[in-house]
Amino acid sequence: MGEFDLIRRYFLPVAEQRGHPDLLLALGDDCAIQRVPADQDLVFSVDTQVEGVHFPRHYRPEYTAWRALAAAASDLAAMGATPVCFTLALTLPEADESWLEGFGRGLAQAASRFGLALAGGDTTRGPLTISIQVHGTVPKGQGLMRSGAKVNDLVAVSGTLGDAGAALDYLDVQEPGSDERALLDRYHHPLPRLELGQALRGLASACIDISDGLIADLGHILERSGVGATINPEFLPLSLPLKRCTGDRAPGLALSSGDDYELCITISEVLWDGLPEETKNHLTLIGRIDGEEGIRFEGGAVANSGPQGFDHFGSIS
Ligand code: ADP
Ligand code: MG
Repeated sequence: MGEFDLIRRYFLPVAEQRGHPDLLLALGDDCAIQRVPADQDLVFSVDTQVEGVHFPRHYRPEYTAWRALAAAASDLAAMGATPVCFTLALTLPEADESWLEGFGRGLAQAASRFGLALAGGDTTRGPLTISIQVHGTVPKGQGLMRSGAKVNDLVAVSGTLGDAGAALDYLDVQEPGSDERALLDRYHHPLPRLELGQALRGLASACIDISDGLIADLGHILERSGVGATINPEFLPLSLPLKRCTGDRAPGLALSSGDDYELCITISEVLWDGLPEETKNHLTLIGRIDGEEGIRFEGGAVANSGPQGFDHFGSIS
């Protein structure tokens, strides 16, 4: 199968399944054309996933595609952007049709779920690597950034943390139980917080998506904003499957493991109080911004959780 047959068979259908009114020209020409409405800013980012580094070797192609698009879309969520379209640069060791069929299916499902139209891409031979560039828009000047956290702002995170990291232990389990399956689903099918990010435009003072773990990603907000934070580990949102499967390792996983693609935000107390309930319901307050550089822990609940827990982060605080 030649390069063009491959593109026509596996990627043209994904491009055709969902358009976007601002995507004037998609796959098939030298470039795609996106119109950016006069009152909007274009928000864009590229994300690369390498086999054996960002996802396991011989990983299911459906999951590979979903995770790659989810990781890229999560950066749009963190900016409060509305998704428009994406391009796909795919490097493949060989044109394995059953792999491509699964990858195309996972890509179509994720594109439809996240509201992203396939605009084009590039196909090359080499070690399995997926690069996805995503485009979104925000009303002019309203993109959420890492740099706006202020002393006394509240720190909140969406959903539950640590689930995807815990799942790494179960990737090869033949018959996982229901808790393990729930954790594995967080790893295989991350759901970028696109609606939540949009709902926080003009309200959150800073925002980031948690791809590398809360401590690392909150750390980026603090560094860009020139502030510090105190976190109460007892407030970390932990799922029941996580608690049941990992016991006292759970808080450590929630603090340090990646791949959850939740949002971490800072917000003034006044704006927090005024948030609609349906927005607040997705968020948990875990601490507060202060003027002293770095991250400190309140309460000491994680201090006893062993090598995965507080000790592991001692150098950060
Ligand atoms: P060019 O040589 O001009 O870069 P290509 O031959 O690489 O064009 O690609 C032909 C068309 O197919 C282009 O419109 C390109 O966007 C699209 N395309 C190529 N690879 C992919 C892919 N992996 N996913 C989606 N579209 C692709
Ligand atoms: Mg090309």
